[in-house]
Amino acid sequence: MLKSANCGDLRAGDVDIQHTLAGWVGRRRDHGGIIFVDLRDRSGVVQVVFNPDVSPLAYEIAEQLRPEWVVQVRGTVQRRPAGSENPLMDTGDVEVAAESVEVLNPSQTTPFYITDDVEVDESLRLRYRYLDLRRPVMQRNLIIRHQVVKYIRDFLDARGFLEIETPILIKSTPEGARDFLVPSRMQPGNFYALPQSPQQLKQLLMVSGIEKYFQIARCFRDEDLRADRQLEHTQLDLEMSFVQEEDILALTEELFSTMVETVVPEKKLVKPFPRLAFKDVMDRYGSDKPDLRFGLEMSDVSDLASETDFRVFHSILGQGGIVKGFAVPGQAGMTTSQVRDLEQVARDAGAAGLSHIRFRGEDSLEDMTEESVLSSAGLRMPVGWSRRLAERVGAGPGDMVLLMAGPARQVNQWLNVMRLHMGDKLGLADPDTLIFAFVTQFPLFEWDEEAERWESSHHPFTAPAPGEENMLDGDDLGNINARHYDLVCNGSELASGSIRIHRRELQEKVFEVLGYTREQVNDLFGHILQAFEYGAPPHGGIAPGIDRIVAILTDSVSIRDVIAFPKTQTGTDLLFGAPSQVDPGQLRELSLDVTQ
Ligand code: ASP
Repeated sequence: MLKSANCGDLRAGDVDIQHTLAGWVGRRRDHGGIIFVDLRDRSGVVQVVFNPDVSPLAYEIAEQLRPEWVVQVRGTVQRRPAGSENPLMDTGDVEVAAESVEVLNPSQTTPFYITDDVEVDESLRLRYRYLDLRRPVMQRNLIIRHQVVKYIRDFLDARGFLEIETPILIKSTPEGARDFLVPSRMQPGNFYALPQSPQQLKQLLMVSGIEKYFQIARCFRDEDLRADRQLEHTQLDLEMSFVQEEDILALTEELFSTMVETVVPEKKLVKPFPRLAFKDVMDRYGSDKPDLRFGLEMSDVSDLASETDFRVFHSILGQGGIVKGFAVPGQAGMTTSQVRDLEQVARDAGAAGLSHIRFRGEDSLEDMTEESVLSSAGLRMPVGWSRRLAERVGAGPGDMVLLMAGPARQVNQWLNVMRLHMGDKLGLADPDTLIFAFVTQFPLFEWDEEAERWESSHHPFTAPAPGEENMLDGDDLGNINARHYDLVCNGSELASGSIRIHRRELQEKVFEVLGYTREQVNDLFGHILQAFEYGAPPHGGIAPGIDRIVAILTDSVSIRDVIAFPKTQTGTDLLFGAPSQVDPGQLRELSLDVTQ
């Protein structure tokens, strides 16, 4: 090794020991005859002192050093003079008195400073990702990512799971997204698909008798990257035989809670993880991945809305829509311009409007008078009504109520945006607390308005609730419950999974409901249907997203900050310049022709 110690590891116990260090030059300070250099490697930073009395040659070289030069320094660790210790640095009690220094490689001036506290445009960071990853915060993110994956591997190994790799070149696996295709050179005109997840492969491994499988799997989905998504993401893919829902949930809960306690013990964790029904979370939070760190729970007020003269409410209720809302504590004093800002947030979310009612400070709801209630135009109502509304949504004096009207599905989406906005604006969510929860009892199918057909809420391999299989033959398909569960945390969906179908007839029935023809079923799923005929055991699993959990654990705003080499929102790799055109010869070999 070109070094005998790590910069960031040096402590008072190392005093008087001679060490060789190697790393990057950070700040350099000339202090009249003495030069101080912050030397950085992955472990951290230590101060190196160049004193011409110790080594005139080293001092002379130190005068030339610039940020990000790579150097090797030999010197003796010494205690910093009293009063010059730096409590903000882990190594702040000591410094290294340089006896010699060698420049291993100089550096050009970097396009941005290699520190945590500078604002840098993300595209510049991605273009120079190798420099961006030198920043301590990014190194910490990668270290935590490593610790998370290592924890998962050790945890599952100790419980008898086998880590098994599955192919990247495979056949299309329907998980609801578009496939990436890879042309076959040897079989012109034919394509592999990159797996959207190893779903069918892990199920086949259960048929193989593996019983407990996992993989840190890369999944590819050719989606428009509207949200904080990536074309390729990493998940812990897991499957077990002879299990029921509770077995998977208990394992997942133990894995996540002990992992958090081990990797980021400073985070507060709520245990046990609540288990909430899909319908219940939709009613209360308008979302199937609620942030449970704060309340602002919603209530349907359609019946109360129908008593008003408000035309908007009437026309929406007349079309089968709903009126729903929530109370925001202590916000009755909002100014007109603040209310306007809120209405803009609602419009940005796609809503036509937002109604509000403010209960200005009295002692109790009983004392409320007409004058003390302020509401949006068109919503003036007698005091009795306002009181009933306040009771329904849990508002009191000093509070504001936000109401939205429209088709149930959209109202939930809009209100979810408003709830998260208010939670954020009022600082209601403690950033150091993690509230995990399982959402269960999802419907098996959802009606796709546009395509006019049933879609799987999760994926077609999810089993219907026990006793509800017969409903597949009926016309109440929207009310079949699925053996599907999600793990959510702080407003993010972290994992999805289900108990699977393991019998051919039932699986065929589900494909039929989803509108596949017999030929399509044979072509796309013949292999797995056949496998089910050879003693497939009951099985189920789950697949937590690694990028997302690491982003939460590291307080990263974007999953791009926890992926070494991510792509931009437009799917571009700015470092390599991918995707890119290829040599015409490569296209010919693949029997491909690009048309305009
Ligand atoms: N394959 C599913 C997914 O990627 C997860 C699962 O059901 O295990 O979402």
